[in-house]
Amino acid sequence: MTHSYYNILKLVSIKNYLILTFNVEIDEAQQMYSQLYFDYNATTPCLKEVVDCMLPYFYQDFGNPSSSHHPYGWLAKSAIEDATLIIAKNLGISPRSLVYTSGATESINMVLKGIARKMQSKGNHIITTKSEHKAVLDTCAFLEEDGFEVTYLDVDSEGLISTEMLNKMLRPDTILVSILYANNETGTIQPLDEISKLTHENGSLLFSDTTQALGKVDLSKVFKLVDFACFSAHKIYGPKGIGLVFIKDNEDGNGLPSLIQGGGQQKNQRGGTLNTPLIVGFSKAIALANDNLKVEIERLGTLRNKLEKGLLKIELAISNSTTSQRLPNTVHISFPYVDGTNLLTALSRQIALSNGSACNSASVEPSHVLTAMGVERSLAYASLRLSIGRYTSESDIEKAIEIITNEVAKQRDSNILWERRAL
Ligand code: PLP
Repeated sequence: MTHSYYNILKLVSIKNYLILTFNVEIDEAQQMYSQLYFDYNATTPCLKEVVDCMLPYFYQDFGNPSSSHHPYGWLAKSAIEDATLIIAKNLGISPRSLVYTSGATESINMVLKGIARKMQSKGNHIITTKSEHKAVLDTCAFLEEDGFEVTYLDVDSEGLISTEMLNKMLRPDTILVSILYANNETGTIQPLDEISKLTHENGSLLFSDTTQALGKVDLSKVFKLVDFACFSAHKIYGPKGIGLVFIKDNEDGNGLPSLIQGGGQQKNQRGGTLNTPLIVGFSKAIALANDNLKVEIERLGTLRNKLEKGLLKIELAISNSTTSQRLPNTVHISFPYVDGTNLLTALSRQIALSNGSACNSASVEPSHVLTAMGVERSLAYASLRLSIGRYTSESDIEKAIEIITNEVAKQRDSNILWERRAL
């Protein structure tokens, strides 16, 4: 991992957090800082180039982009227009099809609640899957309370939906199909071509949560297949707190009703002062991700394969991410005869990783994605998600394999069931 600017920032912030929040001694905080980072699906560091291009909009060109009577406002407005053109060009979509939000969670709420409201006269049925991100599942649960009917499709042991089942479940009153493109826990990519065909033949709209796919796969065909998609800058080395929703038919600004009223910004599709620095930073992050996409996919795929191969050498280890169509950066493995909580706690001193989605880490339940795939509960607990990124090196991979191999062995040594397994 490269040091310098990014690591200094990291050192200061992590140390301060640990010291202030947990009263951790300075030396201990320093030691914890030196851990390996294998949680890029949870979030990524902001690139220096991204931070640099945002800075002037905090203190120099700080105007409100809606202030139309002076140069401060004009400059901010023009920066947003330029950033929007950069984003649209890099994604290969029309600038009119973008609405800025605070992140993917808000975008998901906007699509699901917006379509529910807009299409209510056509029907009240929504189809999604059991392995969606909680932002979709919780919003669907909210809509169910409001009288909408939601069908949750099963996924198979590879995390894929059955398109036959989707076809069976589509009804004349199905207004929306919402299917996660690339799973944040396993990296599994759903067959969007077929899903799009079936959904549109039925006259329904298609939303795909594409948050994890941006910067990791070529998305050019996806925009032709879906009616709505969503993105979040902090997953692609941009700032937190900014995302967008892609609305295919939005030339007149009527593609989705607003969740947030007030001020008339973004053609009334989301009220509130636009955040110039974050939008500029988002555009830089997207441009950088796109510039480097082919090379990065190749590099990540090679490292991912090495990591996965190394971890699968651990006796009885099972991969939960086995399809050929999957993210190049994600490894998800279960270790039988290991207590998942103990494993994660022990590893957390040396490697930053997770056993599921970060947004769900407060939950004591096993990953709903794994249980939907039919993974038994105790095995789902004993599972690790490792997601790599821009700063992951080959030596990080080797260290992680060694640390995890030793820790799994240690955990098993103290497990009587491991001793007895062959008896
Ligand atoms: N959807 C997916 C697939 C995600 O991985 C995440 C974040 O983990 C989200 C939605 C929510 O994104 P945000 O943090 O921008 O609200």
